[in-house]
Amino acid sequence: MTATTDVVVIGGGQAGLAAGYHLRRLGLDFVVLDAQSRAGGAWQHGWDSLRLFSPAAYSSLPGRLMPPQTGQEYPDADHVVDYLTDYEHRHDLPVHRPVRVNTVRRDGTWLRVETDSGAWSARAVVSATGTWWRPFLPAVPGMNAFTGRQLHTAGYRSPADFAGQRVVVVGGGNSGAQIAADLAHNTELTWVTSRPPRFLADDIDGRALFDTATARRRALDEGRTDTGGVASLGDIVAVPPVREARDAGLLKAQPMFARLTSDSAEWSDGTRARIDTVIWCTGFRPAPLVLRGPRGHIPTNGTRAVGEPRLHLLGYGDWTGPASATLIGVGRPARDAAREIAALLR
Ligand code: FAD
Repeated sequence: MTATTDVVVIGGGQAGLAAGYHLRRLGLDFVVLDAQSRAGGAWQHGWDSLRLFSPAAYSSLPGRLMPPQTGQEYPDADHVVDYLTDYEHRHDLPVHRPVRVNTVRRDGTWLRVETDSGAWSARAVVSATGTWWRPFLPAVPGMNAFTGRQLHTAGYRSPADFAGQRVVVVGGGNSGAQIAADLAHNTELTWVTSRPPRFLADDIDGRALFDTATARRRALDEGRTDTGGVASLGDIVAVPPVREARDAGLLKAQPMFARLTSDSAEWSDGTRARIDTVIWCTGFRPAPLVLRGPRGHIPTNGTRAVGEPRLHLLGYGDWTGPASATLIGVGRPARDAAREIAALLR
């Protein structure tokens, strides 16, 4: 049986919910299809000590401020899950889960969305599937020969799993720094980064990053000189645990190793260290599954796919709107996508 609706939103994380909020305000008929069995998107899978890099009020979706978390300036992931759970109930968003979308294909004037529990025909589709589900690992010589444990950020939970081990954490972004700080006290830690780590000033957090991304977007939109994106400020927000480990001298980064052997990491100057585990904090890639081009990339104008005006992509980062891969930043592109869809369908 095929159900019909104006819009199918694929993904019920923060981006899909923000889209739902704006579609509802514009009076469109829609469903949100989410592969998870409960609310919260990727936030329900983060490591135990994961903290937001902005205070609660600066981590809010449209139409509902995130309440502060008692005793924490920077809320934890469980707090975000609770907030998203409350958000979808409060706005009465029609989220169906667990429903995994397998394919989207053109079917005349409709887009046919096929799932593991039936099909939907929609007049427009918003892809909001996130990045967590597509971890990126670089190709490093010897990876396959290494007999110890290798895992990605997405598989990391707690330092207790690595107590006493010789662990190499790879990556100079927020995940690498937070996980290295987490492990610094109870493992033999080696933190490696491809260039010296760039900590943001201690008083800069996600608020300033959002302001910088917004100012840049405004300058580019108005044809003014590029003011520089958030990358110009640094790579690592010095959230309290990172700051403490850094100030205690526990976050000293080494250059990236050249290769792995069966039991060691080896650097190009011949230095060698025996290790038990490598944790690859090397990022994620967008995971849109719809109407992808040959290399996986879909050219967009704002959030709208250039080759398919009925398709919008949301939450994948600057590609689909400045800061759109953040809680506070996804509201505006979600609003723009909903407005464009409403105009198209009228
Ligand atoms: P997700 O949360 O991944 O939600 C996508 C949903 O789509 C999931 O529920 C998934 O199951 C579902 N889905 C995927 N494929 C399908 C399919 N085929 N069919 C049906 N459903 C599907 N942002 C901040 O604002 N502040 C922070 O401090 C912050 N810290 C971060 C720390 C880490 C380690 C990471 C990785 C990201 C962080 N972010 C932060 C960025 C961002 O807010 C999160 O990545 C956020 O989870 C992105 O939301 P999303 O809705 O785009 O994707």
